[in-house]
Amino acid sequence: MKAIGRRPQLTRYLIALGSNIAHSRHGPPPHVLRAACTALDHAPLHVVATGPIITSTPLGPSRRRYANSAVIIETMLNPLLLLAHLQAIETAFGRTRRGQRWGARTLDLDIILWSGGAWQDDRLTIPHAEYRDRLFVLTPALRIAADWRDPQTGLYVKQTHARLTRRATMPKAPLLHADASGP
Ligand code: ATP
Ligand code: MG
Ligand code: MG
Repeated sequence: MKAIGRRPQLTRYLIALGSNIAHSRHGPPPHVLRAACTALDHAPLHVVATGPIITSTPLGPSRRRYANSAVIIETMLNPLLLLAHLQAIETAFGRTRRGQRWGARTLDLDIILWSGGAWQDDRLTIPHAEYRDRLFVLTPALRIAADWRDPQTGLYVKQTHARLTRRATMPKAPLLHADASGP
C-alpha cells in the first residue's frame, strides 16, 4: 500500500534578521537587512509583515554596528526546506560558515516561531532556543508578531518581551553589608 504523506501546507514563520558587517554592494548593516527583506520576498516565500530595523551603538573598542529586524513569511516549505533556503540566501549575501556561532556576519536569518508549532532535530530547533532572552529579536518581533504564541511556554511574544524588559530594568538587590558585631 502506498504511504500517504502529509500534504504541504501554507504556513507562517517569524524570522529574525541580523547583520554586523557591511556588504560591498548593499552597504552598512541596516542596508543589508533592507536588501535581505527584498530577497526573502521571492517565491517560494512571501513576506507578509516587516518589523522595524533596530541598530545598536558600538560599545568599547569595537566599531562594529549591529542591525536587527524581523519579518513574517508565508510559504509551503517545511521547516528543514526553509532552513536550507535561508542558508542559501545568507550565502548569497556573502556569509561564510566557519563553524563558529555569533561571529561577524553579513547576514543571519534565524527561524524564531512557526505557525505549525514546534520542531526539534539535530539541525533545527523551533522555537529558536535563545530568542526568549534576546531583546534584539523580541523588539522588532513585537511590532509584527505580538500575538504569536510560543508553543513551549504558552506565552505571547508581547509577554515574553515584557518579561525580558521587566527583568532588565528591575532594581538590583541591595548589597548586604557584613555586620562586624554578628547576630
Ligand atoms: P544563534 O542560533 O544562537 O543565533 P547563529 O545564528 O550565529 O547562532 P548560525 O551559525 O547561523 O548560528 O547557525 C548554526 C546552526 O544553527 C545552523 O547550521 C542550524 O542548523 C542551527 N539552527 C538550529 N535551530 C535554528 C533555528 N531556529 N534557526 C536557524 N538555525 C538554526
Ligand atoms: Mg542567530
Ligand atoms: Mg543563524
